[in-house]
Amino acid sequence: MSECVFCDIVAKQAPASVVYEDHHTLGFMDFYPATTGHVIVIPKAHASNLAALPLGAEESIASAGRKIGDAMYTSLQCEGLNWVVADGVVAGQEIFHAHLHLVPRYTNDGFGFRYPPGYPQEIPRDQLDDTASSILNAL
Ligand SMILES: [Zn+2]
Repeated sequence: MSECVFCDIVAKQAPASVVYEDHHTLGFMDFYPATTGHVIVIPKAHASNLAALPLGAEESIASAGRKIGDAMYTSLQCEGLNWVVADGVVAGQEIFHAHLHLVPRYTNDGFGFRYPPGYPQEIPRDQLDDTASSILNAL
């Protein structure tokens, strides 16, 4: 057993209900599903968060998510699907092996997101431009 439960699942040293596997990614049922059919998609190689992933690894995760998501619509008859990545403690990440949540949605399922107090608040264009420039400059 390693110190990472997701690495243990990849190594088949911990049980999981696997729904998808390819050379780079693994998809399995969340142990504590937010809704019925909640799936976790992980890179097989350990990376604590998105920034630690080798560049391009996100493409394998997204591709697997698309395939699994399509199958979830068919098999679960879900009405929608949330892709959720909690990256970092303040974003709610609890297991520090990068992962994508695929949360199937059903009418009145009780799952949702909470916006901060005061939302929505219109931000002046010059502030949006400043923030955009900051991100662009970091790319
Ligand atoms: Zn790991």
